[in-house]
Amino acid sequence: MHPVVNQLIQLEELILIRDEQKFMSGDAHLDNLNAAIKGMTAKLPRDIREHAEKLTNKQQSAIVPIAEQVCSGCGMTLPISLVQAVRLAREVHSCPNCARMLYFVESAAKRIASKRRRTGRQKGGIARFSAPSLMIPELSSASVEDVIAEMASKMEAEGFVEGSDKLVEAALQREAIVSTAVGHELAVPHVRGVEGGGLALAVGLSSKGIQWDGDCDQPTRIVVFIVIPTAASAFYLKLLAGLAETFSDADARKTLLDEKGAEGLWKALQKLTRKTVK
Ligand SMILES: [Zn+2]
Repeated sequence: MHPVVNQLIQLEELILIRDEQKFMSGDAHLDNLNAAIKGMTAKLPRDIREHAEKLTNKQQSAIVPIAEQVCSGCGMTLPISLVQAVRLAREVHSCPNCARMLYFVESAAKRIASKRRRTGRQKGGIARFSAPSLMIPELSSASVEDVIAEMASKMEAEGFVEGSDKLVEAALQREAIVSTAVGHELAVPHVRGVEGGGLALAVGLSSKGIQWDGDCDQPTRIVVFIVIPTAASAFYLKLLAGLAETFSDADARKTLLDEKGAEGLWKALQKLTRKTVK
């Protein structure tokens, strides 16, 4: 990969993580992230830096992946010659439509589009992104790595995603930058940039608690694992904020943790997030 493309991807990651932190836990880690973003921006070649800043000032990603010949920033189908050039990565290329810079991913995990359910009432709230089959009332794993693997496998087994091993790898890379334990016994490990489909989430409970992050005073008991296709990357910040809001309330956590079955957990989750996840 072109070294500048690599730098831009890392920079993009840090900017997104800073946004996540703002939405989930206020000022925690913000100074460190801001310093890292500044340092990394300064290292970019001048023309690329100006191009990137123009996009980030408009709250847009400076660099986005090509998914199946389509710019995942704006959805335009790209000429094959451009896709090939991006793939060869001898220089940095931009989307002719939205100006975002582009990179090529050999293969990403895939979100499988759910089959159209029988027609009926349109689902609202968190029910759009999950199902009773993705509720795990008692996680059997005890470490961060194993919990993420358990939840990703569940998603794959239930037909929501393909390539759970890639999801695990990406989720752990994300954890390594800044932990997704946001306090209040809640952790929200997640993977962005998944191909296709819509956002999906699984919920797992741990009555014993998991030591998610050294900084957290309480062990994690509620884990929400989220898979985020690029198209949903604007919405997921609101989802994170909604979940953090709901579970900052001790009564809400207790209600959820008292559920012992998947159906009950599913119903409780919908009820508790009715006002915070629209
Ligand atoms: Zn584009």
